[in-house]
Amino acid sequence: MRDYTGFIREYASGAPRLDCARRGVYPGSVNALEGGVVFMADEGEEDVLVCTHPGLFAGQERGGLTVAPLNHGSADVLRRLFPFAKPAPVLSRDATCGVGDRLGIASPGHIRAFEASDVSPVLAQQSMRELKLTNRSFADVIDAATFSVFRAGYRGGFGADGDHLKTPEDIFLALETGCSMITLDCSDHIRREAPDARGIYGGAIAFAKRIYDEFFAAGGYAAELEISIDETDAPTSPEQHRFIARELLSRGVKFATLAPRFCGEFQKGIDYIGGLAQFEREIEIHAGIAREHGYKLSIHSGSDKFSVFPIIAKHVQGRFHLKTAGTSWLEAMRVVAETDPALYRACHAKALASFGEAKQYYHVTTNLGNVPPLETLSDGALPALFENPDARQLIHITYGFILGDGTLRARLYALWRRERRAYSDTLFAHIGRHLALIAGKPLRG
Ligand code: ZN
Repeated sequence: MRDYTGFIREYASGAPRLDCARRGVYPGSVNALEGGVVFMADEGEEDVLVCTHPGLFAGQERGGLTVAPLNHGSADVLRRLFPFAKPAPVLSRDATCGVGDRLGIASPGHIRAFEASDVSPVLAQQSMRELKLTNRSFADVIDAATFSVFRAGYRGGFGADGDHLKTPEDIFLALETGCSMITLDCSDHIRREAPDARGIYGGAIAFAKRIYDEFFAAGGYAAELEISIDETDAPTSPEQHRFIARELLSRGVKFATLAPRFCGEFQKGIDYIGGLAQFEREIEIHAGIAREHGYKLSIHSGSDKFSVFPIIAKHVQGRFHLKTAGTSWLEAMRVVAETDPALYRACHAKALASFGEAKQYYHVTTNLGNVPPLETLSDGALPALFENPDARQLIHITYGFILGDGTLRARLYALWRRERRAYSDTLFAHIGRHLALIAGKPLRG
């Protein structure tokens, strides 16, 4: 247990350079507060909030200070005191990117990548499927982002996305919890078998209109709307995209972003599969339609689509919303393979055992025959599995099963806590590569 009185004395004396590192204090988190101070500190196994004002945070009194745990109550206090720690609508900015953090530990690395780019982050972004599979709530996800933003002292503003929501109940819950955007998944209302575009998308348009009127028209929530029609088998043709945009806008539905289903395959956690020439022809038209109608194109399943990012960058001209999620989980597992081979082997075995069931949740064409049996691999060869598309997808879609195993979960979180610097470095590089390519300019620094 640390003693912060020396640090507080130094702070109160107005010392020009605070010795944060020696005292475990995160330098970016030091914030003045009515004659006192509040900051976050690293106590080894966990981080804590320290505050000189009694009674603000619910925690332990230690030498005249409150030392509070990072729980929902503490997050609420931070959001009330510091507006930058609260989700805000960001989609109206030119370049935005959602980075799902299924584990609640990825934001430190994500924030470093965003700080080095001109792209604005949606740090909290989870679908109901992800929440269910990771046993988390919207509040957990937003709280994790709030703490990371406060810890880093990131003041650029960040969004929170209730991703791929399909029902009024889920949308209400997400908005009430503080999500600053909703991604409305219209896929259940698309009739693929219908003869024309009106027949295919009529139901989806009516559904979007109903949700818009119920939650957005009155402006009661500080939240933006994304329309998603990407979770279907057939690509959205440019003609269909234009039809949907016009129908929605003519009905008064205002939305910030729209996610078509592009041609080719945008499978989870691996590069684009398909012809680049057709992709380029179509993305140029899709981007033009979005520009013409005043919203941004949203690119879903954007993890690791390195071969098409430069093409997208060329046509969206700096205005886009990109979504990634699974790749940050994969990078967390890469850290496991690099630092605890025995634990990685146990997770891999769990993934193989649950693959059949996990496939019901995700569209992938994984061939397990391309994943080498682990008994044939040395410990040093394990990290290279994360360069193998089939191994990536195996680990990508089985996260719910790996994390659902209590023993594995406890060992994993203990390791990620120990290796938090390595995970942050890995994500900075990996998400940074995404941001640089899609924004069409290198990271700063
Ligand atoms: Zn999607």
